[in-house]
Amino acid sequence: MHIAICAKQTPSTTAVLAVEDGKVTWSDPGGSPDIANPWDEYAIEEAIRLKEKHGGKVTAISMGPEEAREALKTAIAMGCDEAVLVSDEAMKGSDTLATSYVLAKAIEKLGDVDLVIFGRQAVDGDTGQTSMQVARRLGWTPLSFVVAVDEVDAEGGTVTVTRAIEAGRQKVKGPLPAALSVLKEINEPRYPSFKGIRQATKYMRRSLPIWATADLEADSSKIGAAGSRVRWLQVYALPPKEGECTMIEADSPEAAAAELVDKLLEEKVL
Ligand SMILES: Cc1cc2nc3c(=O)[nH]c(=O)nc-3n(C[C@H](O)[C@H](O)[C@H](O)COP(=O)(O)OP(=O)(O)OC[C@H]3O[C@@H](n4cnc5c(N)ncnc54)[C@H](O)[C@@H]3O)c2cc1C
Repeated sequence: MHIAICAKQTPSTTAVLAVEDGKVTWSDPGGSPDIANPWDEYAIEEAIRLKEKHGGKVTAISMGPEEAREALKTAIAMGCDEAVLVSDEAMKGSDTLATSYVLAKAIEKLGDVDLVIFGRQAVDGDTGQTSMQVARRLGWTPLSFVVAVDEVDAEGGTVTVTRAIEAGRQKVKGPLPAALSVLKEINEPRYPSFKGIRQATKYMRRSLPIWATADLEADSSKIGAAGSRVRWLQVYALPPKEGECTMIEADSPEAAAAELVDKLLEEKVL
């Protein structure tokens, strides 16, 4: 079985974000400013577990600028077999419509993929749209908010999963190939081993293929800003929160609590 995962490089969750001249910048004095999107680690883990159970291989795909290799490095370090960076200046400014087109083209180029797994959403772009747009573009079974992959029947060509829905859980079965987006309930991602990190560093340096628009035989009117419907008209930081702090002084904790309740009722908070 050939499983693909799509992972995005995002700012670290501890990075300090700022908006300068309408552009978002970030830095992380305590660590690496860029990481693999945390939601995508669940997709990577699930793909590796399925490979361990059914055999085959896992290929990680990321689209981003040339320097955006952290997500793929994490994927290889955790146990993915191969990785591909999809990158081209012409892809800059892609919204999810253009991104899903490029990712679908990359999956098609891999050729024999049975299952592609995505995270729930990217912690920066945050739309959660890309996975199901890719499913739609490929014409594959779209299975979102998956909390368990119950069965993959490669011979019978079906996959059975449990999905989270508002009122509970839903078990569904569909034909392969399929595109899944997974929630963090699905597994506990492993830490990469020291050996895995060394292998990933070597892979990134020597073996990482980079596919550009021409390699994908992609239509240039469907990528980057040209292929996007969304324009960022304005990006701005929220004004700092303002408020007053009142210290309650009373003779006992009970009296302080009673005064707090009175104040909350007065302000109609309770
Ligand atoms: C040259 C270049 C520059 C780019 N610059 C930026 C930038 O500055 N900021 C930015 O946010 N994006 C950038 N992108 C990437 C692209 O615009 C976004 O990935 C896309 O719009 C996804 O939207 P989202 O973040 O809401 O993802 P969501 O729809 O929330 O993501 C859902 C899932 O889809 C998958 N996914 C999403 N994006 C990617 C990806 N790029 N590669 C692999 N898997 C993915 C992941 O599994 C993720 O969990 C750039 C791309 C290129 C080629």
